[in-house]
Amino acid sequence: MSDIALKKGKLSSTLRSGLDTYYGKIPGIEPSFVSARWEHWGQCPHTVVYLVKKEKSTVGWIIFNRATSAVEEILFNPKDDGTTVRSQAIDALIAKESLVSAEIPEADSSQYGWLVDYGFRPARRIKAFGQDLVKLELSTSVFFQQLKGYKPIKTYRKRERVVIEPVIGTQTEGDIKAALQSLLDRLGGVSKYVKPGQTVVLKPNVVADHGMVNGVYHGGVVTDIRILKGLIELLLPIAGKVIVAEGSSINRSATGKMFEVYGYPTLVDLDPKKVSLVDLNTDELVEKAVPAGKRMKSRKVPRTIEEADVLISLPVMKIHFAAGVSLAIKNLQGTMPPLEKYMTHFFGLWQNLVNIHHVVKPTLHIIDGIVGQEDFGPVSGTPKTMNLLIGGENPVAVDAVTMRVMGLKPHQSPPVLLAYLQGLGPIESHKIEVLGASIDKVANTFKLPVINLESGRDFKIHAENACMGCRGYLHFVLAKLRKADPADPSRMLIDRPFNPRVNIFLGPHAGTRVHPKETNIFMGICQLHNAEKGTALVGCPPHAEVIMNGIFKLFPDVERPKYADETEEAKLEKMLNEVLETLV
Ligand code: SF4
Repeated sequence: MSDIALKKGKLSSTLRSGLDTYYGKIPGIEPSFVSARWEHWGQCPHTVVYLVKKEKSTVGWIIFNRATSAVEEILFNPKDDGTTVRSQAIDALIAKESLVSAEIPEADSSQYGWLVDYGFRPARRIKAFGQDLVKLELSTSVFFQQLKGYKPIKTYRKRERVVIEPVIGTQTEGDIKAALQSLLDRLGGVSKYVKPGQTVVLKPNVVADHGMVNGVYHGGVVTDIRILKGLIELLLPIAGKVIVAEGSSINRSATGKMFEVYGYPTLVDLDPKKVSLVDLNTDELVEKAVPAGKRMKSRKVPRTIEEADVLISLPVMKIHFAAGVSLAIKNLQGTMPPLEKYMTHFFGLWQNLVNIHHVVKPTLHIIDGIVGQEDFGPVSGTPKTMNLLIGGENPVAVDAVTMRVMGLKPHQSPPVLLAYLQGLGPIESHKIEVLGASIDKVANTFKLPVINLESGRDFKIHAENACMGCRGYLHFVLAKLRKADPADPSRMLIDRPFNPRVNIFLGPHAGTRVHPKETNIFMGICQLHNAEKGTALVGCPPHAEVIMNGIFKLFPDVERPKYADETEEAKLEKMLNEVLETLV
């Protein structure tokens, strides 16, 4: 049990003289640094001064910026300074503020050392107040491990309602439309959400063409066109316009092509004057600030989404090999333009999925659970028939109920857990009223993906405490190495001899002993403190393309597996480089 607590306080003369003394002893710190920041803190409305309290005494101070979620200063009384006190102070801070970063002078090696020991990682260098600073991001994996129980930073007071609607009969278009009607009626009826003449945007999940095999749709990959058809028919008597809008993943194919693959253009025929399809990947963008600025300060949102009167998100009931599930929280990733999608990975997928929900707020979320996807979802798993629709107004509550239906606990998905911890909605059963069928009646456990991170002969994987993000993506790429080596088909590529051996480090605690003469690859934000000792694959988790590039460089004679045609590959590489430039 910690005896450290944080209490809000003020800038004080004791703190000022402590800072003058502290920085006065560090070579390389400009004398004006303390006064410039002091003046800034006095004027900045986002500055919060936390007093670090041990019993009744003040043993330290944390200066925190609420607009960027950055620790701008942390100072302890020399006599109270110690590893336990510092760690407990950060534990207390993340319990109040959730995921944080820290900005410290590059010259302050002692502060850097203990922050890295706690789990902060150097993400980039910035210049401010005439000083070179390092921006350190707290590893999301460490953040989850350090929390003492899952308590949101603010209590979500509203009791949410989520409808579980079985689709009865033979799942004809008529059955599905009737189920949609019933689901909406249980929530208050279409007219509660849509007023005459309004523009309604439907955001399905159209991620890839994997759902279509030899012209036959296998279900569980993209939103079933019959749900869109039924919903559009229910909306047309009221809505002025209905837009079906999606931005498919750039490394799969263009959204328009995906719409064609799944027959979405036939939806326009329902009323060509009112119904249209929009590719969000090519839409005009509006920049929106992210409250609390965690990992990214702003997101660029397509104008179609921004100007919708009503937005209805239509995810598919899927397992996701890295995010646990791909449901309401994850579905909004498709609203982001291509570069933002990649930035989401670079700066941190879990937090940035939550950030999207601060700037894009659907009115309703309806999960397509007619056929879901288990095992290695979201595109390479196995279809699972559930014959359900699950809908509600709050994405966290909808995901919590859907995960229970899938035999999972809501905290098993990092982005759903983070959204809950940051106050976006409830996961507790007593805070969610389930209407329609009960969870117990329809629950059917989804198979989880089996992640294989087994090392090769001279190709060693070090993954202590890595979360499912890096583990899932690395498994995905390693699967391409578990094939016959063209240089010697009697062995797998991963067992090819290397001298010196290859090490892949992932997770916050791997890589404490790095052999400098070996080939070392450091994966993810969790490993950025080791970046100078080898090759860093940036991201949290790094995008599959980034990992693929980093690992296949070790096999120059082997053609790197491709996702898309050459033009799209080139486009993707250009985007990645643009992102990397912003990180410098
Ligand atoms: S860098 Fe990888 S292991 Fe670390 S928190 Fe991110 S996804 Fe998880």
